[in-house]
Amino acid sequence: MENHNILVVYPHPADSATEASGTVALHAERGDKITSVVATYGERHHMQWLHDEESKPAAEQDPAVARMTLEEYRNFKKREAERIAEVLGVNELVFLGWNDHEIYFDLDKVAEIAEVIRRVKPDIVITHLPIHNGAVDNDHPNTGQIVMKALETVANRVRQFDGVDAYHGVKQVFFSFAAGEEVNSNSVFTPGIVPDVWVDTSAVIDKKIHAIDQLVSQGYHGETARWVVEARDGRWGMLAGCAYAEPFLRPTAITYDTLPMPPRVVSKEYEPTVLHSGRTTAHNVPSATPPAAYLLHP
Ligand SMILES: [Zn+2]
Repeated sequence: MENHNILVVYPHPADSATEASGTVALHAERGDKITSVVATYGERHHMQWLHDEESKPAAEQDPAVARMTLEEYRNFKKREAERIAEVLGVNELVFLGWNDHEIYFDLDKVAEIAEVIRRVKPDIVITHLPIHNGAVDNDHPNTGQIVMKALETVANRVRQFDGVDAYHGVKQVFFSFAAGEEVNSNSVFTPGIVPDVWVDTSAVIDKKIHAIDQLVSQGYHGETARWVVEARDGRWGMLAGCAYAEPFLRPTAITYDTLPMPPRVVSKEYEPTVLHSGRTTAHNVPSATPPAAYLLHP
């Protein structure tokens, strides 16, 4: 079995838990090396914890929250990303410290990601779909675009001019989804963006839920984590013919030596109805939110 060196790049800590985290957990379990890049601390994203703290009666409020600095809150978010990485089995977590909600396509950011690619030397890169869904500028597709431009950059360096060798080791890019960019179908004849790879994440769905459980800052833990996974990953699983799945899209078509017939296709058996029995249900996964997750100064 060949092992992979996988680089995952997302704009926010939450994406590292909610997008391709099941797939990351599966690859970590098979011994692949995972480097997770979290570009911002997500310090202005879905401020549910802050909202809840400020909504408490004055007597119950932690005075430290009212005086909270950007650095303190970034550390709070950093700890969430660290716990997510731990749950998923990520080998190295890299923070770039970019400003949340301010990821624009610029040369410095491309150069920064290019430097990470040159250092990590991945053969697989996972990042968010770089296509803007509608006219709105957004950190997620912007990050995907920066990663794609960085890949172009690293592949086209000339030692004599640039002081670094070209890197051609990235064999495959997989774009992931947050839900909503893709069509609600797995038929390639449906107009719109149809994922071309589904990964069955049922075996590790508890890890995905536990990763999302760490996001107390955004109120994603507990019931919300289970609702998101049941409603979205469960819907993706219905499309993919399994309990829970994650969708991906590759930038270009794949060439095979012969017609591809992976084990799942070869061993497929007739089922009158795909029944949901004897497999995990997100709501039955116990909480993995530690008490310290609620504290600004644990
Ligand atoms: Zn995000």
